[in-house]
Amino acid sequence: MGTSGDVSKLHILFFPYMAHGHMIPTLDMAKLFATKGAKSTILTTPLNSTLFFEKPIKSFNQENPGLEDIAIKILNFPCTELGLPEGCENTDFIFSNPDLVKAGLTLKFLLAMNYFQEPLEQLLETMKPDCLVGNMFFPWATKVADKFGVPRLVFHGTGYFSLCTSYCVRLHKPYEKVASSSEPFVIPELPGDIVITDEQLIEKEEESVMGRFMKEIRESERDSFGVLVNSFYELEPAYSDFYKNVVAKRAWDIGPLSLRNRGFEEKAERGKKASIDEHECVKWLDSKKCDSVIYLSFGSMANFNNEQLLEIAAGLEMSEHDFIWVVNKNCSQVEMEEWLPEGFEERTKGRGLIICGWAPQVLILDHQAVGGFLTHCGWNSLLEGVASGLPMVTWPLGAEQFYNEKLVTQVLKTGVCVGVTKMSKVVGDFISREKVERAVREVMCGEERRKHAKELAEMAKDAVKEGGSSDIEVDRLMEELMLVRLQKGKE
Ligand code: UDP
Repeated sequence: MGTSGDVSKLHILFFPYMAHGHMIPTLDMAKLFATKGAKSTILTTPLNSTLFFEKPIKSFNQENPGLEDIAIKILNFPCTELGLPEGCENTDFIFSNPDLVKAGLTLKFLLAMNYFQEPLEQLLETMKPDCLVGNMFFPWATKVADKFGVPRLVFHGTGYFSLCTSYCVRLHKPYEKVASSSEPFVIPELPGDIVITDEQLIEKEEESVMGRFMKEIRESERDSFGVLVNSFYELEPAYSDFYKNVVAKRAWDIGPLSLRNRGFEEKAERGKKASIDEHECVKWLDSKKCDSVIYLSFGSMANFNNEQLLEIAAGLEMSEHDFIWVVNKNCSQVEMEEWLPEGFEERTKGRGLIICGWAPQVLILDHQAVGGFLTHCGWNSLLEGVASGLPMVTWPLGAEQFYNEKLVTQVLKTGVCVGVTKMSKVVGDFISREKVERAVREVMCGEERRKHAKELAEMAKDAVKEGGSSDIEVDRLMEELMLVRLQKGKE
């Protein structure tokens, strides 16, 4: 039974990993289930609550008086006791300081998540939600939830294609059969004859700290109630089927979650306060022709060196296309001079906007003037690009982003690779200005690619409409959870 006092309402507890790429879709999930009549509670730490959740949840609750309020439940996170700097409550803290990344804080932060086991146990004992949606990085969550008879759903934050790719690569080890790490091979068993190289694969070492951690994640997924996937069936049907038939017991496609944000404010303030006035940004876009602007963003973690930034700027200028470029830095005029070609700002005046810091991404992508997206292929960004009907230039850096790139370029055929060949932790291959220019020109001029991208966007919108594929999946999941509750009531 939920804590709301209303026995008919399901109570779903969401526990996101503390990184923007996970907290953003979790907030969207909480809204989705609240809209469907459930009670949603988000579990997070004090700082993330203030920085990230309080304001949008307050607005959502005010704007939807007929729904059960989304609640926030705070768990303390004693950073210093866990060997982390004071205030290190999310990955943003680490990625905004390259020295912390170099010092290995990313892995330390990930492993510090173990701390939450005990507080979560205490919480579940008293709260007894109908379900726990626990992030993949909390592999102990399945057992903890099981102690109290709470079904645990896993949220990876990525799509079916990369989940299936990981599975096939792990199982068949095709990288052992090639002569060099740059020799392309077809991924065995994976539908679509997908080609990749060894140097683009996620860490394969099974005995490393990360390798063992990934094994725990797989085991906890195997024992869980199932997997929630931010995707929609029509986008990757072969992989959705493969995952459900071969890889995992059960999964529900409930995306694109970003489409749950309809109002201006909701779209404009996802994640952080934007570093540009949203209205100014839209006004600038309003002055541009339809499909004429390329938007460049590398997500919440990438941090390029000045040499690479300079090359991107030169490539953009050479492409002669209008652009909005998000640079993940707080930059003064003096700092910008270190990575902008001399005279760049005068020559591109009126043609380009540089946003230093955080951009209102979904608002920008949805604007009709935007006609292309140069992306690092983080799953949220990629799916947001799909939902906005955009052809993409792919520039993967790490994690599962190379897999996502293959979906866009080899399966959906709505993307052009910028030409990155290998995985790197924070910054990838050096990409020349000529490559940037070529890829931007190609993506902005390819009419077939654009047409297909727009068709996918229509499918995405249909999927989340009442009676659409994702909408039906959400209903189906809620019915199953209700059955579990009824079953428990009988025991
Ligand atoms: N994002 C944003 N403004 C920015 C950068 C990122 O709103 O300037 C959002 C973006 O819309 C996406 C998320 O942050 O929802 C980034 O997640 P993704 O999976 O794309 O990449 P990650 O940051 O996890 O690498």
